[in-house]
Amino acid sequence: MSARVVVVTGGASGIGAAMVRAFAAQGDAVVLGDIDEVAGVALAQEVVAAGGTARFVRADAATSEGADALVADALDAFGALHVACNNAGISGPAAAVRDIELDAWERTLRVNVTSVLLCMQAQLPAIERSGGGAIVNTASVAGLVGVPNMAAYSASKHAVVGLTRSAALEWARKGIRINVLCPGTVRTPMLRAYVGGDEDLLEAAGRHGSPMGRLGTPEEIAGAALWLCSDAAGYVTGHAMAVDGGAAAM
Ligand code: NAD
Repeated sequence: MSARVVVVTGGASGIGAAMVRAFAAQGDAVVLGDIDEVAGVALAQEVVAAGGTARFVRADAATSEGADALVADALDAFGALHVACNNAGISGPAAAVRDIELDAWERTLRVNVTSVLLCMQAQLPAIERSGGGAIVNTASVAGLVGVPNMAAYSASKHAVVGLTRSAALEWARKGIRINVLCPGTVRTPMLRAYVGGDEDLLEAAGRHGSPMGRLGTPEEIAGAALWLCSDAAGYVTGHAMAVDGGAAAM
């Protein structure tokens, strides 16, 4: 497969950073967007030092300006866009449904769902003009099943699944495959923050959160994204792929 131009949102940390490294390692040119400039610049430098091609753009994926800036940078720097991973997300409020504050609810939906809409709206015409390609959005296993005390997050990720499937149907005959990843519990800064930085709780989340009895790695999620965006997945679109150690099978 010849080198492609790839955009990754939330690309400075965790799963997004693993996606950036994985696409760059197979020779693709990557534009990584994030609101964390320090980590984003450092990752782009790391990729370039390893012989890859990556650029960092400070972009809030939950705004149309940020979504447009990432596509504009890819087109300016590399003249095309073939692949997009809409991965930026936040864990949202840890609260029971009756206690969720409206601000926290709206912020979670804005960052986790509206960002995916805005980014796809910016990306689809550019990918179409570049001759077609693939989009992978990041939902969660919480987008397939409910999660007590995480309803805003779970609702937002269910919405990402529905948004992805609908977009996939719209583009099925027009050369753009659109799929959604549903990771289980993955060892990233987000999960670590969610358990208050407690390593024992982090390990316990892996032991109890998946039939495999362990956390997933960001690289295991990135590997699935790589495959979904490859020619090997040429007949796959509108698919919600659980990469969760079997959690969704419970
Ligand atoms: P992370 O916190 O390590 O990385 C998320 C990145 O997104 C950060 O660099 C952050 O700065 C960035 N970001 C946040 N809001 C942004 C915005 N508005 N615009 C641009 N960038 C923004 O988290 P992670 O665990 O790697 O999560 C990545 C994705 O995977 C998220 O969508 C998350 O919901 C999903 N996910 C994570 C897990 C898990 O267990 N870690 C499980 C299922 C799904």
